[in-house]
Amino acid sequence: MTLTPEAVLREVFGYECFRPGQLEVIEAVLAGRDCIAVMPTGAGKSLTFQVPARLMPGTVLVLSPLISLMKDQVDALLDVGFRATAINSSLPREEWLERVEGLVRGDYEVAYLAPEALGGSLRSRLGDAPLSLVVVDEAHCISQWGHDFRPSYRRLRGLREELGDIPILALTATATRTVARDILRQLGMRSPSGYKGSFFRPNLVIRCRKKGEGNTRREILALIRRYEGDSGIVYCLSRRSVESTTEFLRQRGVRAVAYHAGLSDRERNEAQEAFARDDADVVVATIAFGMGIDKSNVRFVIHRDMPTDIESWYQEMGRAGRDGLPSECILFYSWADVKARERFLSEIESPEIRKEKQEATVRLFRVADADVCRHRAIVSHFGEEIEPCGSSCDVCTGVHVTDQVTELGPVTRSSTRRRPDSRRGHRAPGTDAGTAGERSPSHPLFQKLRTLRKRLADEQGVPAYIVFSDQVLWDMIEFQPSTLGQMLDVPGVGPAKLERYGDDFLRALKEDRLP
Ligand code: ADP
Ligand code: ZN
Repeated sequence: MTLTPEAVLREVFGYECFRPGQLEVIEAVLAGRDCIAVMPTGAGKSLTFQVPARLMPGTVLVLSPLISLMKDQVDALLDVGFRATAINSSLPREEWLERVEGLVRGDYEVAYLAPEALGGSLRSRLGDAPLSLVVVDEAHCISQWGHDFRPSYRRLRGLREELGDIPILALTATATRTVARDILRQLGMRSPSGYKGSFFRPNLVIRCRKKGEGNTRREILALIRRYEGDSGIVYCLSRRSVESTTEFLRQRGVRAVAYHAGLSDRERNEAQEAFARDDADVVVATIAFGMGIDKSNVRFVIHRDMPTDIESWYQEMGRAGRDGLPSECILFYSWADVKARERFLSEIESPEIRKEKQEATVRLFRVADADVCRHRAIVSHFGEEIEPCGSSCDVCTGVHVTDQVTELGPVTRSSTRRRPDSRRGHRAPGTDAGTAGERSPSHPLFQKLRTLRKRLADEQGVPAYIVFSDQVLWDMIEFQPSTLGQMLDVPGVGPAKLERYGDDFLRALKEDRLP
């Protein structure tokens, strides 16, 4: 019997159905075509190469910008039974050599590599490895027109010629048309198939608040206090405001840590680990904190200052709610912020690019300051048209930050009872994170499962969400599986995780049912 993508999805990953675009991209890849997929954060881009990795002979090589992110992805793959590895400069020499030899032998289904590594001796060895697909993750980093250009991505040029006829899959969450064209050209892709997903993410509840009309710090504190025990990120423009905001929050009992480029590697790692392991609830950070996180249960992202442009804003806020659950995104903005941003532009040599960047910040200001549905304004920037969201932004609901900070009592989750098949595609609008319901973080069984998850994760030295996402825990509570077979029906529980964690979670659920 030949294995199908659907079978891999079900039997390896434990998911019931593909999300929009996943199968299209997988089929293009399996047909040996070059492909570019532009899909928002959280859409499930990883599966578009992880499923083929199980189906194709040889190795899928994934070029990915951050070592910390690689480690999490490899852990997650190992956890569902893949042969996966990451080859990077943080490894001891011996180990590095061993993994490179393994790559050449074809030991791995998936191998992650940072673009930096393509400069050294490894590059010539790649030609000897039985590669079936090259994946360029965060592909917009190759373009100077994008908001996150990385010089190391220049090393990807010429790779196509060197490796021969291996298909390339470019993945990104934030390509405008100009950037997408630049990606294709620079990677030398040939008549690629393309998939562009919808950028509308109704589980993100977006609100904008003009600074200067209130006390920003106090408002941020009040917003965070509604999220006792949940994870969130506060983005600031400068290191100084990261430090002072962290201090302010800590003194008021928030478990916050600071993260910015001025800290030592060790300090930054500690902050990131503390956040990943739920030992800290809030990270206060400059944008230096970003692509390294793959945490699915971030419930809020607050911008204390304006980001550079709409793309950055959407990408940064998109770190909330990757598990699909309602999450809040709040932008504090001002014209002074726009002016402060201009200072950063002096480093850019090309006057053309500098001007474009300047205008991009002004466009963001206009969106924040306008009376148009936030979601509609954002996706229209990506060339997509939608009706006003109706329920997931301050303009549509009339619920503003000022209303929230005067409200009392803890916020609770959406009351929508979800069936597994409702995970397909977009969550229906109407999931405002401010509405009352049963999915409160203080739900006793949820807390119990969360504690169990943390213990199992700590035992293995992995972040909690690698074990199960919040969504999976909520589904366990909803479906109350009492056998391993029923547990396997919970979306997100595949055979590997069932074997590793199934008994522990069944026991916890059973204890809860005892009188
Ligand atoms: P992206 O890279 O596009 O930001 P990820 O690949 O990290 O998104 O996927 C986001 C989350 O969605 C992950 O927790 C992943 O396991 C989950 N996911 C992906 N595809 C599916 C699917 N078909 N059904 C259910 N969950 C999925
Ligand atoms: Zn709206």
